[in-house]
Amino acid sequence: MTVQDFTSAVLRLADEGIAGVEASRSAEELEALRTALLGRKSGRLTELMRQLPSLPPDARREAGAAINRAKTALEQALEARRAALAGNGGKQAAADLTMPARRTWQGAKHPVTLVIEEIVDIFRDLGFTVATGPEAELEWYNFGALNFPPDHPAMDMHDTLYLEGDVLLRTHTSPVQVRTLQTYPPPVRIVAPGNVYRRDFFDASHAPMFAQIEGLAIDEGTSFVDLKATLIHFARRFFGASKTRFRPSFFPFTEPSAEMDVECGICEGSGCAACKNTGWMEILGSGMVHPAVLEACGVDSERYSGWAFGMGPGRIAMVRHDIPDIRLLYDSDIRFLEQFVR
Ligand SMILES: [Zn+2]
Repeated sequence: MTVQDFTSAVLRLADEGIAGVEASRSAEELEALRTALLGRKSGRLTELMRQLPSLPPDARREAGAAINRAKTALEQALEARRAALAGNGGKQAAADLTMPARRTWQGAKHPVTLVIEEIVDIFRDLGFTVATGPEAELEWYNFGALNFPPDHPAMDMHDTLYLEGDVLLRTHTSPVQVRTLQTYPPPVRIVAPGNVYRRDFFDASHAPMFAQIEGLAIDEGTSFVDLKATLIHFARRFFGASKTRFRPSFFPFTEPSAEMDVECGICEGSGCAACKNTGWMEILGSGMVHPAVLEACGVDSERYSGWAFGMGPGRIAMVRHDIPDIRLLYDSDIRFLEQFVR
């Protein structure tokens, strides 16, 4: 064999080999090809290499270089093809790029929390501060200081959850008003949001625990005019209500007392299912703080007067979102709560 024959045989082998490598479809096929071309025992390039000694001594150097170039080219082609095949297979296993993106799960505020925050914001603009207090409360703060007569039915075991002795779960956030007046001298303007507890059945319209928000303003010379003006301003901002009305009511801790209604925003006063055909929605109870309450809290009732109100953010959320069952507010069902994400 001449050196020209040898080198052209090597080049042909390299060309055929590379074409075969590039056409291979799997790692197994590629490995078989590698053995056939470069295998140490019977690889085709190895066979050619064994013929090197039969060439004239001065041609061996050139022939050896041709062998080495072919070997390098084949090895590079094998490596490239192996990477390409592994890349395709790997891509399928790791990620399907046609899949829709996974949504980022975001937490959100509960509809009752949103109502509380909105109410607080409106009163904060009017100079009110948020005050909080304990949920496990002494009987005196919950009833005694608030002018409840000792035989008032609310104090019955059937209505109030007593813990031990004279400790109970507060039935309203009014004890926060008492504690605030004991701590800070007037003038005082606070809103007190928080959970309260009553011994109620858990049905469509009752829950043994619910949110309440109360407000209190104590100052020299403050009157029912301030109460009305402030609460009407609140109703306009919160409900967008054009009409409000006050109806006489009774609470032990206020005198006089009044319930405030806003015109039904759904039917605009003509009557619908949401307002039980009255055209009005009851939203809060209010009144002038009873002088006996001021005295119990250590406030001079000759010098100071004040007014207070209380409302249920849960009920407001139900009216606002047309929620038919109060239990939905406590179920923590993501499908329900997601509707209020904003
Ligand atoms: Zn209505």
